[in-house]
Amino acid sequence: MRMWANACGDGIAAAYNAGAEMRNAEFGNFYDVVNKGTGIPIVFGFNALYNAQGENISSKYIQGPQPDIPISIILGMEKEIMEGRGPIYFDMTEFAKRSGGGGIFQWDRPHSKALFEREYAKMQKYGPPQAKRTEVSLGFTGELSAVKVDGNMKTTLPGLWAIGDTSYAGSAWAGAAEAPPGRLRGSGLMNALIAALMASSSVVSHSKEAPTSLPDDPEIERLKEKIFAPLNRRHGYSASEAIRSIQEVVVPVKYSMRRNKERLEEALSKVAAVQEKLPELYAEDPHGLAKCHEAACIALCAEIGFRAALARTESRGWHYREDYPQRDDENWLKWIIVKKSQDKMVVTTEPIPMDRYKIRPAPTTTVTDAVVDHGELVGVTPEMIDWWWVNMEKGYPLWEPNDHKSFVWEVPPPVGGYLGAIQIAEEKMGPMPAMKIRIRWDDPDSCPVPGIYEHAIVAAGINPEGQVQAMILHEWEKSPRGTRMRSTMHFPGPVPSGFAEIWKAHDRAEVSTFPNFLPDLYRLWQAVKDPTINRQCSLKRKKPAGQS
Ligand SMILES: Cc1cc2nc3c(=O)[nH]c(=O)nc-3n(C[C@H](O)[C@H](O)[C@H](O)COP(=O)(O)OP(=O)(O)OC[C@H]3O[C@@H](n4cnc5c(N)ncnc54)[C@H](O)[C@@H]3O)c2cc1C
Repeated sequence: MRMWANACGDGIAAAYNAGAEMRNAEFGNFYDVVNKGTGIPIVFGFNALYNAQGENISSKYIQGPQPDIPISIILGMEKEIMEGRGPIYFDMTEFAKRSGGGGIFQWDRPHSKALFEREYAKMQKYGPPQAKRTEVSLGFTGELSAVKVDGNMKTTLPGLWAIGDTSYAGSAWAGAAEAPPGRLRGSGLMNALIAALMASSSVVSHSKEAPTSLPDDPEIERLKEKIFAPLNRRHGYSASEAIRSIQEVVVPVKYSMRRNKERLEEALSKVAAVQEKLPELYAEDPHGLAKCHEAACIALCAEIGFRAALARTESRGWHYREDYPQRDDENWLKWIIVKKSQDKMVVTTEPIPMDRYKIRPAPTTTVTDAVVDHGELVGVTPEMIDWWWVNMEKGYPLWEPNDHKSFVWEVPPPVGGYLGAIQIAEEKMGPMPAMKIRIRWDDPDSCPVPGIYEHAIVAAGINPEGQVQAMILHEWEKSPRGTRMRSTMHFPGPVPSGFAEIWKAHDRAEVSTFPNFLPDLYRLWQAVKDPTINRQCSLKRKKPAGQS
């Protein structure tokens, strides 16, 4: 759903056509949760969303309450609908509960808290009766603000400055940032004001010295003819139709949020189809004439945004590429520059001068595999560990009493098996805040790590799309006094330095507790014979360990 129509990109198109560079055009678009009936945004509503089956999808796709909408809930809402669990509802009661008990106001925002309390009180007093649940949709805000400017808001074209909504992302003040503290989607009035202040002194000095030069008469005549041409046509292509066609390409999540090469190319060809017909635009009056020019600017902005998105072959902040789901600092600490050169749109990159910034991405290292040898777990049998992986909800906090916070099966293990089960485990690791991690049980034979012990399971950390971010191969087998065990984390790409050590310490802490609680817990549960409650499963490898 289109959230609101605001600027039409006239300023950006003017700067681009004059030869100014664009930067960060792939960032800026975002979605919010809106009331499906009215189209009005439900601010912070993403924290209390349910699918048609009554499942809380906020806790499924968001790690704890967030100060502003994260991309994961947008992708999650789309996924729920595509997999037949829509429509999505916003639950007012849950929202009020979360807001009251710390929730989204756990951050120091006294003024917005006071404002929302007043708004809520007014709504209750004067508004229509509140439905407990409101059907919601995704509202799109397309915000291309890509004119590249320096600290004085000067563009790359001498004598041209760009402020406010034209250059929010292009100033590199905004850009990819999705997570706090940098998450400020959308530009806004303060940005327009501050950008104007930043530009003012250099604009004033320039205008004092700049020679006044006007285009010659033939140039003015040529431009006039071009600008007013739609008024000379009585039939042709309607500006409203052109704008509607561009909106139909830009608004859907599949083109502007869940991007991939194929769909971006499809989007570009749809934009090109509109652009081909622009010379046929007609207008009946000056208002219609303005619309014709807006249609051309909107189409140009869509092309700039899609071309930049196609070039960035990684995911970062609000730019999500399904075909490149990982952030790639090794190759993509770069800005994408879009520029008109000899009537062609040219896309290049420019390295980000990281040394100029106080805050920099944590260095990453390519870690091969992190291995933890747990030694012998005295008094624990391999069968107990088999049982544990499919019955974890029965003792999750005992497994690591300090760091384990909550556990729920999103997909419980099938009766007699384990493959495909998905858990949402909320845990803390070392200095990192508690996170909800989505873990799927996969087949050890699918893991590139060679196994050495008889029993094994793969814990695959997956994103909302089901793509594997990291995998842990746990293996164990009988030993003289119990079980010997080893865990290996396999990283598909570079990780922040130090992460492997943090994980190893966490894994060691978890597994070392098995002798303390697992034999007792296992014994107690033997009284329950129903296999749907007390699940049973053998995790002995099909192929002997060591054979691939
Ligand atoms: C519905 C809505 C709600 C918003 N809510 C908030 C909010 O709560 N808080 C907040 O901070 N921000 C909010 N914003 C964003 C904020 O309004 C903008 O970021 C801000 O107005 C941008 O200022 P600007 O000067 O860069 O551009 P604009 O305010 O868009 O000014 C551009 C001006 O240029 C004129 N113009 C365009 N084309 C031409 C042309 N060819 N020739 C001559 N003139 C032209 C336009 O008519 C317009 O007056 C909201 C925006 C919308 C649409």
